[in-house]
Amino acid sequence: MSILAVGTVAFDSIDTPFGSAERVLGGSASYLTLAARHFCDDVRLVGVVGGDFPAEYRQILADGGVDLRGLEVEEDGETFFWHGEYHYDMNERDTLDTQLNVLASFDPDLPDAYLDSDIVCLGNLEPEIQRTVLDQVDDPDLVIADTMNYWIENTPDSLRETLRLVDCLVINDAEARELVDDPNLVRAADKIRDLGPETLIIKKGEHGALLFTDGSVFSAPAYPLEDIQDPTGAGDAFAGGLAGHLHRCEAVDQTSLRRAVVYGSVMASFVVERYGPDRLLDLGPSDITDRAQSFQDLAAIPTLVPLQKQPA
Ligand code: AMP
Repeated sequence: MSILAVGTVAFDSIDTPFGSAERVLGGSASYLTLAARHFCDDVRLVGVVGGDFPAEYRQILADGGVDLRGLEVEEDGETFFWHGEYHYDMNERDTLDTQLNVLASFDPDLPDAYLDSDIVCLGNLEPEIQRTVLDQVDDPDLVIADTMNYWIENTPDSLRETLRLVDCLVINDAEARELVDDPNLVRAADKIRDLGPETLIIKKGEHGALLFTDGSVFSAPAYPLEDIQDPTGAGDAFAGGLAGHLHRCEAVDQTSLRRAVVYGSVMASFVVERYGPDRLLDLGPSDITDRAQSFQDLAAIPTLVPLQKQPA
């Protein structure tokens, strides 16, 4: 079984009230693949970088075990750049700068070895490029997608076209509200599922995640961390953990999806502990298992006793 992820491979500059980092390795595809790789031996990246992308960053992805045959290099171009600023409440962030650079003309042509990918993750990226990738893969078992306010605002029609092809959409609460113009998340979820994705996951930062499937809602907590350095990439690491767990399951059903949401939350909880994707690089299986167990303990509700009316 294999996982293909398309998305940005980026230089990120990050400011928080507590520190900053400049031009670190970032991008949706970087976080997604490095997270998924902990669950799956065959993780394939599709993306583009410029001639300015350092060999050292490429090596980080390669050392993480990511297949880079689908990472194109535009020697004359510059790598996608994003600058974000987090507020005192780290759930809140502003984008200060987005430079598409080589992404503006990216027209992915997948290596033949990628065409049989089983799970396709459409990381946060221009919706038309997401579709170009999907068109090339032979009948994947599952299509998971992410997007963000930038594409909701700038390419709404194209985004809707992509959504029709998606099985599972993973977005945050503000994006869900904006996508269908409804402040209520339960109503918004219904409207989004009408656009195509049968399964919808709404991430709520430090307040956990909601999983909406037919007739059922599941709520997973977020891990209460004392020290959050940089929330960047949490959403993509979430998608990587989600896809990674589902790739190990025989069927995509309520149980596997609920567990996948927990593994997604586990990977997100790790990535925020450091700037950039560093924390994803030194994790072992026991770290992931232990934190997953902590999630189970965190969310365990003891059997509830039915309320009985006292006799008069
Ligand atoms: P997340 O924190 O999970 O929402 O993802 C942050 C990552 O998304 C950063 O590493 C950025 O490089 C990348 N990113 C930011 N803006 C965009 C955009 N408009 N399209 C694609 N990727 C983006």
